[in-house]
Amino acid sequence: MNDLLALPAAPYHLLAERFGTPLYVYDAHRLEASFAAAQQVVGPDTPIYFSLKANPNISIYAVLRAAGARAEVSSLAELTTVLRAGTPAEDILFLGPGKSEKEIRVCLAHGVRLVVESLSELDVIDLAAAGMGVRAAVLLRVNPSFQVKGSGLTMGGAPRQFGIDEEILLRPLNLRRRWSAVRVVGVHAYMGTRMLAAPSIIANTHQILALATRIAAVQGFEPELIDVGGGWGVPYFEGESPLDLAELEVGMRAVLADFRRDHPHTTVATELGRFLTGPSGVYVTRVRWVKTSLGQRFAVTDGGTNHHMAAVGIGSFVKRNFPVEVLGRDSAVAAVAGDEELEEWTVTGPLCTPNDTLVRKVQLPPLAPGDLLGIRQSGAYGPSASPGHFLSHGFPAEVLVRGDRADLIAEPETTTQILARQILSPLAAPAPVAR
Ligand SMILES: *Cc1c(COP(=O)(O)O)cnc(C)c1O
Repeated sequence: MNDLLALPAAPYHLLAERFGTPLYVYDAHRLEASFAAAQQVVGPDTPIYFSLKANPNISIYAVLRAAGARAEVSSLAELTTVLRAGTPAEDILFLGPGKSEKEIRVCLAHGVRLVVESLSELDVIDLAAAGMGVRAAVLLRVNPSFQVKGSGLTMGGAPRQFGIDEEILLRPLNLRRRWSAVRVVGVHAYMGTRMLAAPSIIANTHQILALATRIAAVQGFEPELIDVGGGWGVPYFEGESPLDLAELEVGMRAVLADFRRDHPHTTVATELGRFLTGPSGVYVTRVRWVKTSLGQRFAVTDGGTNHHMAAVGIGSFVKRNFPVEVLGRDSAVAAVAGDEELEEWTVTGPLCTPNDTLVRKVQLPPLAPGDLLGIRQSGAYGPSASPGHFLSHGFPAEVLVRGDRADLIAEPETTTQILARQILSPLAAPAPVAR
């Protein structure tokens, strides 16, 4: 796992010169290694869906797709991305609590399976499918009444906008009679995110499989697919340990083998976002100024939380620091050798808000304008989960690196592009009324 979490090797200075900063750099080899590690945990018979929510770039998806990933999407743009990348409909799941009728129709037209999050959604899907003369294949997303421990964000055992309550799904719903243009083919559950404890994930998987089996029995369908969710985490903060993949593998394989013995015709799948792309990405910013305020050292960089909102501190009120390092200087070695003394630095971005703090009071070697800083574990929930238009700097360039080659995979947004969406209305400054 440590190999999966280290700073990916890349010529960051050359990349910064060629593509400018701020910049996201992703390592294709790392993406492949993370995918391979996940597949090793669940075994070859368990498909892994990549949640594009974590990183919606088509090239990132294409790397994972080539490695064997399927796609879990939640918007028309995400669906278009994976279709454009050549994914067949049977390898796509469309999920989300507020699907539009258009999204539903496009899924039905392509034969993409929908994960249904409410009974009223079944009404809409049924009507649309009947009108189009097709049979809609859907999975029922259950909101389990149990909760998973050790997750950053829990999704079960509480009132939620996601899925259908377990209690409802454990009463016969007369699926075929009520929704005759719908074929229920499976069950989906997603229990939480940022899980770093293998025993929780294993217990979770066991419980979901048991619940899905009960639901299928009550509703009278043979599940083709049970998606047990995922939520595997990567450590960001001090005190967090990486997921023990060896422990997870032993437990998951046992649970899956147990289930398959009784249900040889059901495919069990998992879905992962953060785990697959987080460790591959580095957010690269350049130090513009250094200054001291009341004894505290600040490095002001050219990029901040407008591109990396997660760095503010995921779901916590207290600022917690993502791993950061000076790029192109072997600071760790230098520090150990005593060549370079570490100092306490707070790194902030260009936004006019005190919240634009990338890291607070971390130990770094002396910084100077022009230095490059890399925030590691930044390949998931980066630009797409950040307020890129706050203060109108626009979204940064994104680059994919494979060995000694590098390609732009997202252009930096220009002022022209940002302003292109705005319309100067005549109502803003009406012409003076002639007297
Ligand atoms: C967000 C989400 C994921 C991905 O979560 P990660 O923690 O990034 O792996 C998967 N499934 C569902 C339903 C989600 O909402």
